[in-house]
Amino acid sequence: PDSHAILRVRGLSKQYANGHQALHALDLDIWRGEIFALLGANGAGKTTLISIICGLVNRSSGTVLVDGADNVTDYKRARQKIGLVPQELSADSFETVWNTVSFSRGLFGKAANPALIEQILKDLSLWDKKDSPLITLSGGMKRRVLIAKALSHEPEILFLDEPTAGVDVALRQGMWALVKRLRDQGVTIILTTHYIEEAQEMADRIGFINKGSLQLVETKHNLMRRLGGKTLSLTLA
Ligand code: ATP
Repeated sequence: PDSHAILRVRGLSKQYANGHQALHALDLDIWRGEIFALLGANGAGKTTLISIICGLVNRSSGTVLVDGADNVTDYKRARQKIGLVPQELSADSFETVWNTVSFSRGLFGKAANPALIEQILKDLSLWDKKDSPLITLSGGMKRRVLIAKALSHEPEILFLDEPTAGVDVALRQGMWALVKRLRDQGVTIILTTHYIEEAQEMADRIGFINKGSLQLVETKHNLMRRLGGKTLSLTLA
């Protein structure tokens, strides 16, 4: 990844209306082209952080720049650059896969692009399901439809909130491969997970979030890659 931060978070704090402090002056830089895993226990602040970045929840203080666009004062431009795959499978409609994904692109004000939608559906192994209503799909397919939706407006950063929650072992490995393929196509990926093995398997860097504060760690894999394969005897937290 080059040194340009595609996402820059500075001094981000969040106090909910009930007084709970969910984020404490959090700083984070995400490098263009990396896979970043946000690892933390239930209630650590992962969803709060993602929701603020994506503009779904107001911050209390701090700034978020998405590829240079402030996500409050320049919200529309910032949001265009983001694809969000929510955790819950809110995909139980009678609409077809094709219409769902095409419509999603339209919501972002982008001109129809059937060739692009076709490419996305093929990449996600959904092409033979393009005319199927969502309600007839398996959980793993619905999750891929949500990813296709999130990619439909050609975002630069993709947020995946617990992409393997409730997914069996085979599908989990398929999801890992898919995420790496998207990264290889140039999409920056930020995902949340509860599993350290998953974070280590997939990510270039890991952010441990605990009670609204963050500790950054490079994965062994990434350190080796950056050092050109030289052996390391480092112990990673
Ligand atoms: P999980 O792994 O369970 O999804 P998380 O790391 O995503 O957890 P958050 O959902 O960001 O954690 O929650 C962080 C903290 O903020 C928790 O203590 C939670 O109870 C609290 N919280 C979240 N939303 C609200 C809200 N609307 N009002 C008050 N407190 C909230």
